Amino acid sequence: MTETSTSSGGRPSLPMQGVPQPKRDEVLNLPRVHISTHSVMAHKLTALRDKNTPPPEFYRLVKEIGALLAYEATASLALDPIDIVTPMGPMRGQRLAGGIGVTPILRAGLGLAEAFREVIPDAQIWHLGLRRDENTLQALEYYNQLPHTVDLQVAYAVDPMLATGGSAIDAINILKLRGIPRLSYVGIIAAPYGLLKLSQTHPDIDIYIAALDESLNDRGYILPGLGDAGDRQFGTF
Ligand code: URA
Repeated sequence: MTETSTSSGGRPSLPMQGVPQPKRDEVLNLPRVHISTHSVMAHKLTALRDKNTPPPEFYRLVKEIGALLAYEATASLALDPIDIVTPMGPMRGQRLAGGIGVTPILRAGLGLAEAFREVIPDAQIWHLGLRRDENTLQALEYYNQLPHTVDLQVAYAVDPMLATGGSAIDAINILKLRGIPRLSYVGIIAAPYGLLKLSQTHPDIDIYIAALDESLNDRGYILPGLGDAGDRQFGTF
């Protein structure tokens, strides 16, 4: 990788170089942040992080972890009563009240969106392309397939890595413009910096992650993390 921007003194600098970051234990108990404590999640996450895990297995693990996250993130969705008849007689059951939207942030969010579809086949998938500028780490929108009219009870922005928080914040801003009553962010690994930024910018959303890591490196990658989640899913090294 090459150094990409220049500090005011003329020396080359990297986007997170010298930027103060909160410590992990400072952000462990933020309101509406849910960090998985499930043993199976921890097991799968370790396999995911391992640099020797090849892309096909990595993608399979993203989907398995995504299904566990989807299960946690949908636990308190609203239900409507519905009368049905079982082979033994009538009963009052329940079904999900209102639609569910999933917005994968391209391209790394695709595996998580697939996982949500496996848990909730009726979910609508709204693709959103946000690319991060490697110099500034700002998110730039290049693709938006959100429908004009929406009638959902909840939408989930999904992206595996919550690093600086830029893409997640922008995705939630875009979803908020659609007037969806309830929004959540779902990711696999968060850095304290991005988690705090997202939580402070959007205190009205729920945030579900599988793990909270230590920090960001100077280029904005999560440590210890898992590297580039898009490259590892799609084999583009
Ligand atoms: N995006 C990734 O894929 N990995 C990181 O560590 C940070 C952002």
